[in-house]
Amino acid sequence: MPKRKTENKRLDRSQKKPEKLIDKNDVRIDGRKLDELRPVKIEVGVLGNADGSAYIEQGKNKILAAIYGPKEVHPRHLALPDRSLLRCRYHMAPFSVEERKSPAPSRREVELSKVIREALEPSVFVEYYPRTSVDIFIEVLQADGGTRCAGLTAASLALADAGIPMRDLVVACAAGKVEGRLVLDLTDVEDKGGEVDLPLALMPNLNGITLLQMDGDLTVDEFEKVVNLALDGCRRLYALQKETLKSKYVVKEAVEE
Ligand code: ADP
Repeated sequence: MPKRKTENKRLDRSQKKPEKLIDKNDVRIDGRKLDELRPVKIEVGVLGNADGSAYIEQGKNKILAAIYGPKEVHPRHLALPDRSLLRCRYHMAPFSVEERKSPAPSRREVELSKVIREALEPSVFVEYYPRTSVDIFIEVLQADGGTRCAGLTAASLALADAGIPMRDLVVACAAGKVEGRLVLDLTDVEDKGGEVDLPLALMPNLNGITLLQMDGDLTVDEFEKVVNLALDGCRRLYALQKETLKSKYVVKEAVEE
């Protein structure tokens, strides 16, 4: 018997799952094709008080990322002699999901904070700023599946916006399997009603995968296809990431009277 996804997801699934998530013409419940991303909007430099920031909307997900640093480490005993200390807090606002979520950090949020930090760290020249810290805050304002990936995409842009030297950007996207079909960028209802969710983060120029998780079971052949689908999604998002970053530095020519 195939391994089931987590218990709390199954409970939610029975409450919300519509009859069919994909119709006979391979059209998904939100009208997308199997390999289509949700509409994405990204902005950088949205917060005046942070050193760097970014905002992303991916479908119904709305996520802010803010960077503070490099700065002196508090508490000081955490300072590292040879590199900067990268810290990350992924947090979902109490109003980000239908039922109020406790503002206290859940086990899921603690885990996501860790995997997101580990996915971003290889892209940052942490050795340039010994004895400092760089704090990454990811605040999910509205959640609809794939928030770790959208949060990562925004956080990497926010690091770039803070002027922190980086080897590459990091971009993330999930793919998976729903009703036997392989799909890109799952929504919450697809994630809960589907069989597999595979979030993946990529450094596109270095061609390095910095995060790969999988919830559910796939055959080796399916796994390869789903990874390639997620990589393709990442590359499309990367083009948007670059465009967003460049647009901040475009000097608009004055319109002549
Ligand atoms: P990701 O957002 O990266 O896909 P999960 O797979 O753990 O992470 O979660 C999937 C989705 O489940 C979230 O995007 C969110 O929409 C929903 N969700 C997560 N935590 C809660 C919660 N405490 N209450 C209601 N919905 C939640």
